[in-house]
Amino acid sequence: SPVANILGVSFTTRGFDETVAHLTQRIDSGEQTHVMTANPEIVMLAKGHSAFRSIVDQAYVVPDGIGIVYAAKWTNQPIYERVTGVELVEALMAEAHKKQWNVYLLGATPEVIRLAAEKLSNRYPQARIVGYRDGYFRQDEEEQIVREIASKKPELLFVAMGSPRQDEWLARYRDQLNASLMMGVGGTFDVISG
Ligand code: UDP
Repeated sequence: SPVANILGVSFTTRGFDETVAHLTQRIDSGEQTHVMTANPEIVMLAKGHSAFRSIVDQAYVVPDGIGIVYAAKWTNQPIYERVTGVELVEALMAEAHKKQWNVYLLGATPEVIRLAAEKLSNRYPQARIVGYRDGYFRQDEEEQIVREIASKKPELLFVAMGSPRQDEWLARYRDQLNASLMMGVGGTFDVISG
């Protein structure tokens, strides 16, 4: 797929609508995708840490942050618009509503995630929110959480535990999660719940 290279990180050059269509098609054909919305901080982190770099290399990276759009412009590469986490969550939830996908929400505080689940299920009633839980758990709870998510077979798994931890977590467990599209969403649930 078409990419632009920003300091060693391969970003998709697809615009917002094209990205949503591409990701939807991957879900429909049963492919697994780890989506990362990457800003300049993520690019710099990947430059400095080889373990994180290999996580980024295996993800589908979309340009979050206007800094990425400018970096592409200065290097004459075709990234024309930002693709933000909040907007992607909304667009993918609209697809979930159309196709009755299973959706699992992980992260944020108990109150925020409860409200976010409630608002999303009101706005996208045909999407099946098959589970949610907060992002403040102990390491010895992780195995149980992964099993719980896997048992729900979500088409969409959104994880908000701060960057880069959310993406490290997804990379560690992606093979066990039984999820089609997995995405770290940062502060998105705080935005949606508010
Ligand atoms: N968060 C979480 N567990 C943690 C740390 C953060 O669930 O151990 C949640 C936090 O409540 C918020 C989201 O992750 O909903 C994003 O956190 P933050 O704004 O700190 O991350 P950033 O936006 O800087 O990536």
